[in-house]
Amino acid sequence: MKHGEFRAVLIRKDGDRQSAEETHLALDDLMEGDTVVRVTHSTVNYKDGLALTGAAPIARRFPMIPGIDLAGEVLETAHAGLRPGEKVLLNGHGLSETHYGGYAERARVKGEWLVPIPPGFTAEDTMAIGTAGYTAMLSVMALEHGGVAPAKGPVVVTGAAGGVGSVAIALLAKLGYDVIASTGRAEETGYLKDLGAKEIVARTELAGDPKPLGKERWAGAIDSVGSKTLANVLAQTRYGGVVAACGLAGGMDLPASVAPFILRGITLAGIESVHAPHERRIAAWNRLARDLDKDKLRAMTTRIALSGVFEAAKNILAGKVRGRIVVEVGG
Ligand code: NDP
Repeated sequence: MKHGEFRAVLIRKDGDRQSAEETHLALDDLMEGDTVVRVTHSTVNYKDGLALTGAAPIARRFPMIPGIDLAGEVLETAHAGLRPGEKVLLNGHGLSETHYGGYAERARVKGEWLVPIPPGFTAEDTMAIGTAGYTAMLSVMALEHGGVAPAKGPVVVTGAAGGVGSVAIALLAKLGYDVIASTGRAEETGYLKDLGAKEIVARTELAGDPKPLGKERWAGAIDSVGSKTLANVLAQTRYGGVVAACGLAGGMDLPASVAPFILRGITLAGIESVHAPHERRIAAWNRLARDLDKDKLRAMTTRIALSGVFEAAKNILAGKVRGRIVVEVGG
């Protein structure tokens, strides 16, 4: 590695063929922005799996540095609200899509995209949370906004052993909810109960052909699966309940009827993390600092080196990753 260079993962496209490898870059290779960050940590979310393997067209320009999240320290900045040395994190904002992302020891970004790391969290903690955990928080906030509260009844979390699911269970349990965890991995029952799940439901129970309405089982839901699972979740939500739809791990379609909406007054709340307004991000991160049990966060997190992201990407798409992964980028 030459002086001034840093390690980075780069996705290239040659015709229809996409490839990804670890390489060395210089600051001059980075895209425009008013702030340079020394990236110490990143993470692997489902979307990172899609981007790295090319399973879905996440990157919209090439070459691209993947990694939708990053955390580290400001090295230099022309942004009025930041100063060198400040600890910061970044979720989404087009990272890995239109702007170089977090799988590199340096990032040049817009200062307005950065969120100060809340007191009590390290850079590593924030990447253990990552977009998946921040999306879980946005989902909990959407349930609260719709009037769901622990006294109204249980909340079901689908894709429970995944990243969004694991953080959602820990958050809901700490807030006093009875959590029902839906998983395809019966062997993770102990893990899910340790995070705070009261009851486990097999993935298959919610994967069949949905009826317009079913027995009213939960007051709220956080769904990272989509497709028939989301339709079944809607059909079994209690009168006036709220379902936060944030994912598509089981498919992008929604073979549902309007019955839950017009006969039970259910609200379907869409959750979008990439372009969420700055104030909502700050609110979500402050809530995470207050409402997420750090011991549970550590229990759901594994650590890998930057070179490990290629294998982790395949594993997360195969549904084999439990909880969250922190990438130790270095910096
Ligand atoms: P993970 O892979 O960590 O979690 C997804 C979980 O879904 C898996 O662990 C598995 O849980 C379950 N699952 C996987 N495949 C299937 C399947 N074919 N059918 C049913 N269930 C399945 O991913 P993340 O937690 O990082 O992301 C979850 C989803 O949320 C993704 O679709 C992602 O794109 C989306 N997302 C959306 C965001 C937004 O802004 N709206 C932001 C972040 C994520 P188990 O083994 O317990 O059944």
